[in-house]
Amino acid sequence: MIRKACRYFKGSLISCEKGIVPKSLTNGEVGWMKKVPCVGGDEGIEKVGCSQFQGFTKEEIDKMEAEVKKSSERMKRISQFIEGIREKCKGKEDVLGECVCPECGKKLKYRVSGYNRHIWACCETDDCINFME
Ligand code: SF4
Ligand SMILES: [Zn+2]
Repeated sequence: MIRKACRYFKGSLISCEKGIVPKSLTNGEVGWMKKVPCVGGDEGIEKVGCSQFQGFTKEEIDKMEAEVKKSSERMKRISQFIEGIREKCKGKEDVLGECVCPECGKKLKYRVSGYNRHIWACCETDDCINFME
């Protein structure tokens, strides 16, 4: 969708960076969101025009897509890491442990609650893994 979206869009119910409320481009009929050019997408549905529309450059789109891919790969690694800890601590009471951080390779401490199996994990590197789940 981002490939055809407008760079000024901020939300469907608020003014965009050009001071236009997207809905005002149409008569406000049902399904108006699919007819405005602001968010791209919905191939095959005729869009109304907007003289202020400006899309993203190919470089910007490539960068955004690379960030989304990187973030999704990170989430996958972390999710596998969590499953690994759960498996390792299966059937045990409260577990306090340490391991190598799957993201940066430094020390990561974790705790698995024997009560509700919640996992807390914190890497010694700032801005790295730090969550409670
Ligand atoms: S297409 Fe027009 S109304 Fe929609 S976000 Fe862009 S400038 Fe605003
Ligand atoms: Zn780390």
